[in-house]
Amino acid sequence: MGVYEELGVAPIINVSGSVTRLGGAPLTERGLDAFRAAAADCVPLDQLQGAASRRIASLTGAEAGLVTSGASAALTLGAAAILAGHDLGRMERLPDTTGMRREFVVAREQRNGYDHAVRAAGAVLVEAGFHEVVAGAGVRRCEAWELEAAIGPATAGILYVHDAQGRPPLAEVVAVARRHGRPLLVDAAGELPPRENLRSIIAAGADLVAFSGGKAIRGPQATGILCGRRELVGSAALQMLDMDDHFELWEPPLELIDKTWLPGLPRHGIGRSMKVSKEQIVALLTALDDFATGVYDRDLPRFHAYLREIESALNTPATCDAAGRDAAGRDAPALELAVTCHWPKVGQGSVPLLELAIDERRLGRTALEVCRLLRHGVPPVYVGHGKLDEGRLVIHPLHLTAERVASLIFRLRSELAPAKDL
Ligand SMILES: *Cc1c(COP(=O)(O)O)cnc(C)c1O
Repeated sequence: MGVYEELGVAPIINVSGSVTRLGGAPLTERGLDAFRAAAADCVPLDQLQGAASRRIASLTGAEAGLVTSGASAALTLGAAAILAGHDLGRMERLPDTTGMRREFVVAREQRNGYDHAVRAAGAVLVEAGFHEVVAGAGVRRCEAWELEAAIGPATAGILYVHDAQGRPPLAEVVAVARRHGRPLLVDAAGELPPRENLRSIIAAGADLVAFSGGKAIRGPQATGILCGRRELVGSAALQMLDMDDHFELWEPPLELIDKTWLPGLPRHGIGRSMKVSKEQIVALLTALDDFATGVYDRDLPRFHAYLREIESALNTPATCDAAGRDAAGRDAPALELAVTCHWPKVGQGSVPLLELAIDERRLGRTALEVCRLLRHGVPPVYVGHGKLDEGRLVIHPLHLTAERVASLIFRLRSELAPAKDL
């Protein structure tokens, strides 16, 4: 019996990708080995974060980097670093930011559930601009001058949620941040691949960048990266690391923290509740290395083959096996499944996707209902649900194995066969 079955929780077939809700990305063998080996020994965590900083810096081009407990935690720590700097009194007070510069300017169209992470540090978000295209009221989106106009004496920094189609473009936001001497914190949690983004966002001039470790990097689910300017990443480290030591004995890693900046040792900071374990740090660095050096590209042909197998099984009539025979071995009548397969365009180096367009009328069920039925069967199947309103299910192959493909095909064929009397 597996570890999950012992707990009475049925493992699922996850074809939604590396989403947090379903447990993130599967660790690779190399990542698992690193996790296991790291768990067996103890090291000072600040020294390990110093080593992580060197590795992250070399792969991102940033001055420094910190392994966090997720991109969301990286946003909280990044905001805390911008708010407190190296002022120990401020670190002690967060998230109370009364009397401090505490505003973060953000494009209204970039507000999302993860901005909770920034507000958690004590930041106050100040919105700028409009998205008139979504409102159906015009043709323009947020523009750089609008962000600039929202900057005032209380502005601590600028928050930017990265997207290839993001507005204003990153370069223009960097220019605004520079002109006003305010740090730019970029949420790039899900912006990998493309691999270039590991370096390009820092190279464009962002002061701090947050990446997820548990998405395309395929590190442990509860990891992330905060990278950028050393003095800011160092402040984040000070506010996250366990500080129960004596100042006289404390030897922080120079990659992150210069002791001579500090009048004393801060106490546990706002990030202490977002701690990261040695195993998580080591496994994340292993995964990051594989991601950055293109090791994952080797999986793409296998993912393609899985999706082609699913496509071909769904193109065979409902009453027959994959070879086109019915239960008695005769050529089966062509009662087709109520589905057509499509291959959406994905970015270079991205995992291929397969979309299943449901013929809702012929099936007598909506895509949402199919989605629910798939979750409730055995084994439970969780498909990508971002296009249900277009009548489509999305298949993301990251978790697939040959065995899971066979079960998935069985479940899909059962739920997508129109009733016999249609
Ligand atoms: C996934 C995501 C996050 C959160 O990342 P975690 O690593 O799960 O904490 C934050 N922002 C955006 C835009 C994301 O897509």
